[in-house]
Amino acid sequence: MNYISTRGNSPKKKFTEILLGGLAPDGGLYLPNQYPQIPRDELEAWRKLSYADLAFEVLSKFATDIPAEDLKAIVHKTYTAEVYHNARPGSDTTQITPLRTLEPGLHILELSNGPTLAFKDMAMQLLGNLFEYALAKQHDELNILGATSGDTGSAAEYAMRGKRGIRVFMLSPHQKMSRFQTAQMFSLQDPNIFNIAIRGVFDDAQDMVKAVSNDHAFKEKYKIGTVNSINWARVSAQIVYYFKGYFAATKSSDEQVSFSVPSGNFGNICAGHIARMMGLPIRQLILATNENNVLEEFFKSGVYRPRTTAETAHTSSPSMDISKASNFERFVYDLVGRKGETVRDLWSGVDAGKSFDLRGSAHWKNIKQYGFVAGHSTHADRLATIRMVWEKYGVMVDTHTADGIKVGLEKREAGVPLICLETALPAKFEDTIVEALGRKPERPAGMEDIESLPQRCEVMDADLDKLKAFIGSNVPE
Ligand SMILES: *Cc1c(COP(=O)(O)O)cnc(C)c1O
Repeated sequence: MNYISTRGNSPKKKFTEILLGGLAPDGGLYLPNQYPQIPRDELEAWRKLSYADLAFEVLSKFATDIPAEDLKAIVHKTYTAEVYHNARPGSDTTQITPLRTLEPGLHILELSNGPTLAFKDMAMQLLGNLFEYALAKQHDELNILGATSGDTGSAAEYAMRGKRGIRVFMLSPHQKMSRFQTAQMFSLQDPNIFNIAIRGVFDDAQDMVKAVSNDHAFKEKYKIGTVNSINWARVSAQIVYYFKGYFAATKSSDEQVSFSVPSGNFGNICAGHIARMMGLPIRQLILATNENNVLEEFFKSGVYRPRTTAETAHTSSPSMDISKASNFERFVYDLVGRKGETVRDLWSGVDAGKSFDLRGSAHWKNIKQYGFVAGHSTHADRLATIRMVWEKYGVMVDTHTADGIKVGLEKREAGVPLICLETALPAKFEDTIVEALGRKPERPAGMEDIESLPQRCEVMDADLDKLKAFIGSNVPE
C-alpha cells in the first residue's frame, strides 16, 4: 500500500515513512492510494475475532511494510483489557470497546475506557507502541512537542510515558484546564514527560509550538515531532472500532447500522467514512457538532466556512470547539473524485482564511452516496440529553457523547440500529454533569483522589527563547 497526498504533489510513501511525520511536503494530508475492499466472506470471518486480532487484520491492510509478526505483537500489546480497564461496572472490558445497549436498536460504543477516559486513547496508545518500534529500528529519537487544552495532551502523555527514545514536551495554558485534567497530566512522574504551563491562553501555547516547528534548524537539531490528529496512523487505528461496533450490534453481515459521531477535527468520523468505503455496511454517518457547527453547515449547504479563533465559542463540550476541521480535507479529496488539483485550489482559499462553496459543482451531486447527515447540539440540548439518558436508561454520559446521542436520535432512520460513539467518560466533565443531574459522576477506581497527588510542571511565560532553552537543557546532545 502506498500513501499519496490530498494535494497531489508529493512522492508516494509507505506507512512507516509517514508514521512519524505530519503534513505531506505539498501541505496536504496522506491517504492510501486506494482503499482496501473487504468482501462479505472476509467480513464474516472477522466477526468472531478478538479486538487485537481484528486490529491486526484491519491494520495489516494499511501498514503493509511492517512485518506481520511485529504488527501482531504491537496490537496485542496495545489492545489488552489491562489498558482499557476504566469501564463502568458491568462492562466486559475484554471486548476493549464494549457495546452497551440502551434499548433494542440503540447502543453506545464505549471507546473511553482507556487511561485518560477519552476515545483518543484508542489510537494514541497504538501510536506510542508504533513510535517506539519504529524509532528502535532506526536507532533514532523523537521529541514530541504539542499544545493542549486537555484531551489530546493527556492521551499523548499516557501513550508515550516510559517509551524508549521518546520525550514529550506538552504546553498547556496555566490554570485554564479543569482540576481533573490538570491532575491527570501533572501527576505523571515519568522522566520522559515534561508538562509546561504557559502563562497565557491556549492560542499562546499553540503559537509557540508553531513557531518552534517553523524554526527548521532547531527542529532538526532536537528531532522535534508532533502527534496531532492529522497523523494517518491515528486515523487508521480508529477504523478498527467501527468494525468491532458493527459486529457487536449485528448478527449477520447483510445487516446495516448507523453511527453517530461527536465531531471536532473530523478525525473520528473520517475513520468511519473509510470503514464504509472499505465495504462495512454503514447506512448513515451522523455527524454531531456543538455550537461550533462548521461541519454541520457544510453537510447541509455545501459551503465550508472555517471560523476565526475569535468566532469560536467555548462550550460545555470543549473538545469539539474547533474553528476548522483539520482532517476534513481527506473526505473532500474523495468527494471531488480524488483530484489533488481540485483540493489544492480549494485549500489555497482555506489556508488564506476563505470559504469554499461546492453547491452547483458536479461533486456536490455525489454527496448523498457517502451517507453523511449532520446536526448540532446546544448547551441546553446537552443537559436535556444527559438527563434523559440518565433517567430513562440509568446511564451517565459525558457532554460530547450527549451531543452525539441528541443528533443521532434526531437523524436516524427507522429500522436501522444506531451506534452512538462514546468519546469520553462523564468523570472528565464533572461540572456540567453536576449542572445537569445535581450529582457528581463516579470516577474509575484509583482516580477518586487524583487531585491530591504530587504534581510536576514547569510554569513559563509565553517566551519562545525560554521554551527553546528548556527543551535544549532536557535533551542530551
Ligand atoms: C477529540 C474529541 C472529539 C472530537 O473528535 P474529532 O476526531 O476531532 O472529530 C469529541 N469528543 C471528545 C471527548 C474528544 O476528546
